[in-house]
Amino acid sequence: MALPKRRHSYSRTRKRRAHDFLTPPQVAKCPECGEPKMPHRLCGGCGMYKNRTVIHLEEEIS
Ligand SMILES: [Zn+2]
Repeated sequence: MALPKRRHSYSRTRKRRAHDFLTPPQVAKCPECGEPKMPHRLCGGCGMYKNRTVIHLEEEIS
């Protein structure tokens, strides 16, 4: 079976692993209620998006 002629240098190993990380999700504050929310997503705290109510959260409960 074929074997590698030389071991990889630490530099080569680190260069490969430079792309192996995950980026944390972006979290923005809702301008309406201040709750943390994902950008370009409907707010889970007040149901608002782009200064208009998309879903009425309180009405659905009662
Ligand atoms: Zn909100």
